[in-house]
Amino acid sequence: QPHIGGAMGKLLGWSDASRRIAVRANAETVEAVNTALSFGAEGIGLARSEHMFFSRERLVALRRLILSEDADDRAKALTGLVDFQTEDYSAIFMAMHGRPVTVRLFDPPLHEFLPRTDEDIDETAQSLGLEVRALKLRLDRIAEINPMLGHRGVRLAITYPEILKMQIEALCAGVRAASARQSEPVTLEVMVPFVSTVSEVVEVKRQTYAIVEQAGLPPAARERFAFGTMIELPRAALRAGDIAEHVDFFSFGTNDLTQTTYGISRDDAPAFLSAYQRKGLYDLDPFVTLDQKGVGEMITIAIERGKRANPNLKIGICGEHAGDPASLWFFSRLDVDYVSCSPYRVPVARLTLAQ
Ligand code: PEP
Ligand code: MG
Repeated sequence: QPHIGGAMGKLLGWSDASRRIAVRANAETVEAVNTALSFGAEGIGLARSEHMFFSRERLVALRRLILSEDADDRAKALTGLVDFQTEDYSAIFMAMHGRPVTVRLFDPPLHEFLPRTDEDIDETAQSLGLEVRALKLRLDRIAEINPMLGHRGVRLAITYPEILKMQIEALCAGVRAASARQSEPVTLEVMVPFVSTVSEVVEVKRQTYAIVEQAGLPPAARERFAFGTMIELPRAALRAGDIAEHVDFFSFGTNDLTQTTYGISRDDAPAFLSAYQRKGLYDLDPFVTLDQKGVGEMITIAIERGKRANPNLKIGICGEHAGDPASLWFFSRLDVDYVSCSPYRVPVARLTLAQ
């Protein structure tokens, strides 16, 4: 594991004493979690749960859960998916020894989970016991022209409640497994991505708590359990007052909030922005350094409205800007409780926030 010792370690230690805002890390593997801890992370502020589904075996099970029309088959896929995530989650909870772990519900567009090549479609049809033609029809029905603004984030949890059930059951099982092996109570925070309306939050919260109560958590973990939402769409920022009444925390996703406030694709931005910069139209890349006047204003409004409606609301920042010094200076002037950045940026965040 990386380790910061010597004069730098001493300086970081001193700086922690004068820092008000906590520093967490974005991580979803035990390796990344341990790296983050060795750099002084005080929690995991963003575990992108969809990153746990890259392996073939998991993807196949997830496709069965989404595409199978046979209830028994879906139930079997659900059990399999819960089982292998339980180990992943309990390992992360144990590595964190009771520090907070914010797990975000599935976020990517639905199509990222679905078969695309002919070979993949053939194989998936076979595993589902479907005709290739029937599977293609089903895939056509859910295909999208602009998936990044389509069927992703909270919308998946609402339209595929099986996915939500699978995720919350796996998290509860992970908490129970870690609690059986370790004395520190697990601090699990569930976070909902890509929210734009309060009704989405209310619906996912109702289902989440129903599953938690049914699955069961050890009492100390149940007491610490928190439910929150990402604020990464302008509508959510403006309606922060309504949303705050139903959640324990907000975490600002500054990548999507920048994308949607500007209306610039975060994936296509680099070529486009360099032309703007050459012409002197932008002095900074807003995906690297927070745009204080626009996106920053959106965040400021959301914090004010959210805190007014719910004074106990905790505020985090988890987009890339949480590891950028100039952006951190801006966040440090707001009523923010923690930032969450990539593990290797934790020391920079600790120092900047102490400054
Ligand atoms: C964000 O949008 O800023 C965020 C943290 O989520 P992701 O980058 O996974 O979309
Ligand atoms: Mg996002």
